[in-house]
Amino acid sequence: MLLFSDAHCHLQNATNPDMAIKQARAHGVGKIVCAATCPDDWHSVCNIVSQHHDIHGTVGIHPWHATNIVPMWRDKMIQILIQNPKLQIGEIGLDKYHPNMDTQIDIMCAQMKIAADLKRGVWIHCVGAWDKILKILKDQRNNRPPYTVFHKFNGDVGIIERLINEYNAYFSFANNPKPQTIAAIPIERILTESDSDTPTDVVQNAQNIANILNMDLNQLTSIVNNNLTKVLI
Ligand SMILES: [Zn+2]
Repeated sequence: MLLFSDAHCHLQNATNPDMAIKQARAHGVGKIVCAATCPDDWHSVCNIVSQHHDIHGTVGIHPWHATNIVPMWRDKMIQILIQNPKLQIGEIGLDKYHPNMDTQIDIMCAQMKIAADLKRGVWIHCVGAWDKILKILKDQRNNRPPYTVFHKFNGDVGIIERLINEYNAYFSFANNPKPQTIAAIPIERILTESDSDTPTDVVQNAQNIANILNMDLNQLTSIVNNNLTKVLI
């Protein structure tokens, strides 16, 4: 039975993505979301998604790659998204430990606009830049993406409710989540992820979350799987 779901992985970086998928299935991982990080891997992600059942994909520019973008990236991204109506947008965001914050902000804003215009969800990476992310979300309040997924969420628990109410937010967790953060999020908003090229890693990460919540693993994974299904519709 497929119990687990991986809301954020980078299968495109695996030496052999087919093997990594096979191994994950053997460990009970069902739904998988493969997140691109730069224009160079958009086609690999699209190929993986088109060749496998229940593997979903996102295309986008990660803040670490905001300074080495290709010309016309925006047109290319829009074209891929229009050709693939089920693709979402990610991973995008801001990271204060990487240079050129102004460029990161420009690239994130441009991708948020594409997400809103094409009605795709966004998968957000944010490290140490919550004020700036919240400002970007707020500035876009009249044209929002249908939902947001905060990957490896590490923000203040005080912003959770607002993110849910105003931005239809979900929160996904990999290894070492903060117990107080997990406990502050409504269960129907929690997702699990591997954040690696090996989706099998999500099995241990889901077990950790079940332990933190003192919940039966089957119960947790079935709720989380449901949450991811809602997001991907
Ligand atoms: Zn990632």
